[in-house]
Amino acid sequence: MSQERFVIDLRALAKDGRRLDGEVPVIQLGRLAESVQEPTGTVIFGFQGERDDEGKLYVDLEIRSDLVLQCQRCLDAMVWPCEVQNRLLLLRPGEQPPEDELENDAVDALEVEPLTDLLALVEDEVLLALPLVPRHESCEPPVKSGVDEEISPFAVLRQLRGKV
Ligand SMILES: [Zn+2]
Repeated sequence: MSQERFVIDLRALAKDGRRLDGEVPVIQLGRLAESVQEPTGTVIFGFQGERDDEGKLYVDLEIRSDLVLQCQRCLDAMVWPCEVQNRLLLLRPGEQPPEDELENDAVDALEVEPLTDLLALVEDEVLLALPLVPRHESCEPPVKSGVDEEISPFAVLRQLRGKV
């Protein structure tokens, strides 16, 4: 499947107030695929363009995916529902964001080249949203089984002495 239709002029999309929806298999997003436990499922996304009264260009980005991460407590797999909603102010390369937007935490400024790879942008946003330490809401750490794993220095010493 060609992904070229997701390399677009994002400013034009915003100017026209257009919307673009798409989805991509997790396995096709290389960096994300390496960050999850199993690169299964798809990432669903939508870009809604908007031009405000002052001519500023925005896109509202929505991303949804069920990602399989490794729980850092029990080490089993867990499905983490990823939901990202982000409002981006589009800037030309080198353009400074307006003062009032710098103070607005709800909006991120994004410098866009004439063509933007939406899949790379989606991947960046998902990577940023990943929990640092994913954990099930309730689970137990794995139980260490058997006495074999428990080797104390003294036990080793006793064994050594026994051999002499
Ligand atoms: Zn767990």
